[in-house]
Amino acid sequence: MKISEPVRKYNFWLRGGHVVDPSRDIDGIADVLIVNSRIAEPPEDGRIDPGDVREVVDCSGHYVFPGLIDHHVHFSWNTSGIAPDLYCLPSGVTAACDAGSIGTNGFENFVRHRLMPAAATLKASINVASGGLAGAGYMEDVSPELYDVRAMEYLFERYRDYIYGLKLRIGKDISEGKGLRPLEESVRLARMFHTRLSLHATYPLEPLPKIAARMGEGDVLCHTFQAMGPYSILNEAGQVYPEVWEARRRGVLFDSAQGRVHCSFSVARAAIEQGFCPDVISTDLITFSAYQERLFSLPVVMSRFLALGMPLAEVVRCCTQTPARLMGLAGQIGTLRPGALADVAVMKMEERRFEFQDSCGDCLPASRMLLPRMTLKAGRTVWRDIAFTGMMR
Ligand SMILES: [Zn+2]
Repeated sequence: MKISEPVRKYNFWLRGGHVVDPSRDIDGIADVLIVNSRIAEPPEDGRIDPGDVREVVDCSGHYVFPGLIDHHVHFSWNTSGIAPDLYCLPSGVTAACDAGSIGTNGFENFVRHRLMPAAATLKASINVASGGLAGAGYMEDVSPELYDVRAMEYLFERYRDYIYGLKLRIGKDISEGKGLRPLEESVRLARMFHTRLSLHATYPLEPLPKIAARMGEGDVLCHTFQAMGPYSILNEAGQVYPEVWEARRRGVLFDSAQGRVHCSFSVARAAIEQGFCPDVISTDLITFSAYQERLFSLPVVMSRFLALGMPLAEVVRCCTQTPARLMGLAGQIGTLRPGALADVAVMKMEERRFEFQDSCGDCLPASRMLLPRMTLKAGRTVWRDIAFTGMMR
C-alpha cells in the first residue's frame, strides 16, 4: 500500500497578520504565502484554498516582518562569543553580521566553523588589526604598519561572499598617539578591496566632523549615539554637526550598534528629534549582553527606538531592507517580495508601561515591547513559541 501526502501548492499560509515590509511600502493586514524556500506570489483572484496549503498559521493580532537582520553582533569575543543560531533564531533574526571580532589571523577558521554551518545568513568584517578584537586592558594594536594586506588579499579572493567589509576601532585606550592615521589607512584599504569600512569610534579623541570627513560612500559609522568622552555627533549647542549631516549626504551610513555602553538616550533623543534617525539599528551583542538585561536582543533594541519616537515601519526598515542592501543581498533577504528567501519574523506587540535604562543612568519610558513568536528561515520553521500554536487553546 502506498501512503502519500497530497501535493500542496503552498508550504505555508501566514494568515491575517499585520505585515510591515518597508521594501514594498506595505504596512497593513495581509497574507504571506511560501512555496519551498521562497515567498510566493498570491493567487490573482486573492482567494486561497486551505486545501492547497500544508500549514496555515493564524497570525491575527500579530506583526509579520521580513526576517530581522542584526547588522552588528560579536560571534567571537574573548575566546567564546555568541553561538549564532542560539541567539538569532529565537529573536526573529535570520541574518547577521559579525562586526570585526576577528582579524586576518583566524578569519578563515571563523568563516568555515562559525559562519558557514549556521542556519542564519551570516557575514563578517575583517578587523584590520590582525589579532582581531582584544579585551579591556589589552586592546588591539591598530598601527597601520601591522595590517596584513597579503592575508586580506587571500581572504577576499576566497571568501568574498562571507566578508561584509573591514573594521577598525579607534578612541581612548585603542588609538591614542596615532591620530587619524589608522582611519586613513583603513579607508584606503577598503577602497582597494572594493568594500566598506565600519568604524567604531567610542570615546573618540578627535571631534566627529574630523572623523566623518575621512569616511566615504558606503562606509559605516557604528555607535552613532555614543556619548563617552568629550565628543559625540552633537555640537556644543546640542545640534547634530553640519559635517555629520554632510557625511550622510555623501553616503556614509550610521548604525546605532547599541552595545551595553554605546548609546546615550539623551544624544539619541536629540538627534532623532532633529530628524537624524539611524540608517541601521543593531545590538552590538557580546557574550555578556546576549539575553541579559539592558540589551537582551534585537527586538528589545527595536522597542527602545519605538520609545525614542521612531515609527514602527522605519524601525523595521533599519533592521531589514537597509542592512540587506549593505550585505549585498537586497531583494533576497530583508523583504517579503515574492521570489525572496522566505525569512519571516512573527512578533507580538506587548503594550504596557515600563522603562528602559541606558549606561549613563538615563531612563526612557516605554509602552511597547516586541516579543518574538515564530521564526522562519528559507521556508522552514526554525523557532516557535508554544504559546503561538493551537496546542495551548
Ligand atoms: Zn561592536
